[in-house]
Amino acid sequence: MRTNIKYTINGIDFRIADLNPLFPGSNGPFLCLDLNCQLIEKSLFQNDDLVTGTIVNFYESKEEITAMLFFSSFEHYVLQGHFVENIFHFYSEEEIKDMLDKASLLLSSEIDCPYEKNVAAEFIAAHKLHKIKKIQQKVKKNLTGKRRKEFNSKRNQILLKLIEKYGYSCTKCESIDDITIDHIIPISKGGSDDQDNLQFLCRKCNSSKGDS
Ligand SMILES: [Zn+2]
Repeated sequence: MRTNIKYTINGIDFRIADLNPLFPGSNGPFLCLDLNCQLIEKSLFQNDDLVTGTIVNFYESKEEITAMLFFSSFEHYVLQGHFVENIFHFYSEEEIKDMLDKASLLLSSEIDCPYEKNVAAEFIAAHKLHKIKKIQQKVKKNLTGKRRKEFNSKRNQILLKLIEKYGYSCTKCESIDDITIDHIIPISKGGSDDQDNLQFLCRKCNSSKGDS
């Protein structure tokens, strides 16, 4: 297997591995270990000089190599058509920062690669949206926590009033065991502690209702 064969192009080292080692002199595919991408090119196997020559043709400048590095990280997400939603869950903060840098570099370069540039722009825009969404979620969680605390602090008074009004049994199944106070519109969705928004539910009926 042709692993760890080193080529230096424009001052950058690349290692090439033949993924089809049973058939030396085959058409590959070859894996460029440093670009993390497959090169399926007939001429790659013929001789070492030609391998170098071919890669030089593919990636003529440092910017173009950067573009390829950026793009190869995304390729399978782009192909699956859902990279925008999922990509941020698959990479660490540092990796995402690195990709953002590469995307900006690619966008500001003169390289004629509209498809890759479009992916880069989409990535930057998606990252912005993702960040906003994360902040929204955090604020919402804080607010919900605060509201729950508020409700718990006056829970006993509310409980007495509700018993006066409704008795003390599950609104759905009339059980009198494991009674909980349920917010009809959940606290997390902005529901109030007004009596109109409260009902007794047993634990079983409450959990089958879902979010409380
Ligand atoms: Zn019930």
